[in-house]
Amino acid sequence: MSEIETREISLADIEGLALRVFTKHGCSADNAAALARTVTRAERDGSASHGLFRVPGYIASLTSGKVKGDAVPKIEQSLASVITVDGDYGYAPLALETGLPVLARAASETGIAVMRIINSFHFAAMWPETEYLAEQGLAGLACTAFKPSVAPAGAKQAFFGTNPISFAWPRPGHTPIVFDMATSRLAKGDVQIAARDGHAVPPDTGLGPDGEPTNDPAEILKGVLLPFGGYKGSAIAMMVEFLAAGMTGDYFSYEAAVHDNNDGGPAKGGEFILAMSPQLIAGDGWQKHNEDFIQALSALEGIRLPGKRRHKNRLDTGPRHINAALLDKINSLL
Ligand code: NDP
Repeated sequence: MSEIETREISLADIEGLALRVFTKHGCSADNAAALARTVTRAERDGSASHGLFRVPGYIASLTSGKVKGDAVPKIEQSLASVITVDGDYGYAPLALETGLPVLARAASETGIAVMRIINSFHFAAMWPETEYLAEQGLAGLACTAFKPSVAPAGAKQAFFGTNPISFAWPRPGHTPIVFDMATSRLAKGDVQIAARDGHAVPPDTGLGPDGEPTNDPAEILKGVLLPFGGYKGSAIAMMVEFLAAGMTGDYFSYEAAVHDNNDGGPAKGGEFILAMSPQLIAGDGWQKHNEDFIQALSALEGIRLPGKRRHKNRLDTGPRHINAALLDKINSLL
């Protein structure tokens, strides 16, 4: 297999490039900056399928007019513990930046609060939202639906989105514990990258257009992804549909597909975020109780805590190695 050509680019230049390209394609200063931060954080942490790789898709939906670059999210707190951010048909990062501090405050006062984001387009990793909550001393859970791309267990037809779910646990004085995962065996972005780079994918990743299992990512992209862990992952993907769509009032994956223009960007959908205060719910002593658990878990041979890879990557402030063809493509959009 041929070596993939990459180029070195600093994190500051990644952010500058993203800012320029989003601004050029009609984003307001606030939206461009929030999107550029999202892309840069993903590259910083090594979330390669949700950094610069997503820029052409973001631009496609700005160009088609599906997503508003000058969206102004509006926030409403209908109950002490229920917050709604209407994303005004823009991308999720600005809606998240608008709502998360309000959600954190509500959960810190009442013990538990939920935020629904509606009329918004999510095309990013989900760890930034839960990690933010954990940094405020809260446990966070976030999920969103997408467009049908995963066959529920037993079926051969796409119905669920890749429906990511992220959870973070606060560790005052330490980096939080965070997991963030698609409920498909592999995230679609990773299958797209494997197809681009000519790598096979693990067994159980998906079915080809003939409905048969294959490890060829190009065939899976023409067919359907599978949930992780068979019927168990399928149940969690279904739960995400209920939380991200049923509970927010925005689209289920199958509804999103009906309304989407398939321009290469994300479909409109909802995001559900739950924040809980261990201090107010478990009470004094929660921190030591949980640290003891984390120490016992970490002591097991072979263990690596979720989030560890990203947090280690984050410590590297040097340039990132970005696919050269992707950089050329983004530069051609300027
Ligand atoms: P991965 O399978 O790469 O990782 C899932 C989680 O497991 C991560 O928290 C990861 O931590 C952790 N992990 C990985 N390997 C180990 C290990 N050996 N031991 C312990 N923990 C481990 O993620 P996915 O491919 O499923 O998802 C990638 C991204 O795609 C996510 O950020 C998700 O939000 C995003 N996505 C977004 C969608 C959207 O619509 N916006 C749709 C679908 C996915 P670590 O990060 O430290 O490796």
